[in-house]
Amino acid sequence: MENVIGHRVDVLDKGWIELIDMMPHPDLGIPGDLAIVNAARVSFLGESKGDERDKKLLFYLLRHRHTSPFEMVEFKFRVRAPLVTWWQWVRHRTWNMNAQSGRYTPFEENDFYVPSVWRKQSRDNKQASEGEVDDQTNAALMDKLIAHYEQGFALYQEALEAGVSKEMARLFLPGFSVYYTWITKIDAHNLMHFLRLRLAPDAQYEIRVYAQAIYKYFFKPTLPWTAEAFELYTLSNAE
Ligand SMILES: Cc1cc2nc3c(=O)[nH]c(=O)nc-3n(C[C@H](O)[C@H](O)[C@H](O)COP(=O)(O)OP(=O)(O)OC[C@H]3O[C@@H](n4cnc5c(N)ncnc54)[C@H](O)[C@@H]3O)c2cc1C
Repeated sequence: MENVIGHRVDVLDKGWIELIDMMPHPDLGIPGDLAIVNAARVSFLGESKGDERDKKLLFYLLRHRHTSPFEMVEFKFRVRAPLVTWWQWVRHRTWNMNAQSGRYTPFEENDFYVPSVWRKQSRDNKQASEGEVDDQTNAALMDKLIAHYEQGFALYQEALEAGVSKEMARLFLPGFSVYYTWITKIDAHNLMHFLRLRLAPDAQYEIRVYAQAIYKYFFKPTLPWTAEAFELYTLSNAE
């Protein structure tokens, strides 16, 4: 199993995601896929029967939604993402989380998400975006966004200097764009559920890029058989 613990992937303009731990830990020498197979075989007190039969069993498990063996593999990440991403992420109740506190740690001038383009409102889907605004509009809106951040941050600092608490001064900060850092943990079964929803084209770009990073840099290298089965049985059937 590839050891990607400690690997950090940049996402968006100032965000990142890092795998900080996993179970089974790669140092144990038990591949995650095998941990899943071994968990399934406990039903009849068996263990590995060689790669070919092990892989076949794993595919059988996923195809027939025998999901509990997939809960035996866990991933722990440290994530830095804007609040617009955080707010969608926390709707997934199966992640365990502990987040930075804006009541304790003051925000800094550069803690705001600046998108690379402004996407247009989708015509078919009231929640989604499609295409981009023209270059001139893009540049003008970008300037306005930066000015808005600068003004919000100046007011935040002014309030702090006036003796206002950090928990209240943050009311001046542009809410959806501020970057947050959190530590979060999930098992492979529930991660596949998250990935199915957040890799989908109708997921907002600002969370989809984190799902893509998780899948490409952490899930696939550590669980190659599971990823293959997930692509075959889950992603190919996703609406
Ligand atoms: C494209 C998109 C658009 C969305 N739009 C909106 C929106 O407009 N408004 C909005 O509020 N949300 C929206 N959401 C969030 C969505 O409704 C879910 O809250 C989110 O995707 C988490 O899904 P989940 O509950 O299946 O996942 P999790 O919370 O991770 O739960 C995983 C599974 O565990 C089970 N489970 C967990 N907790 C419970 C429980 N308490 N009771 C019963 N079963 C449970 C369910 O089977 C669930 O599917 C959107 C999500 C997507 C992907």
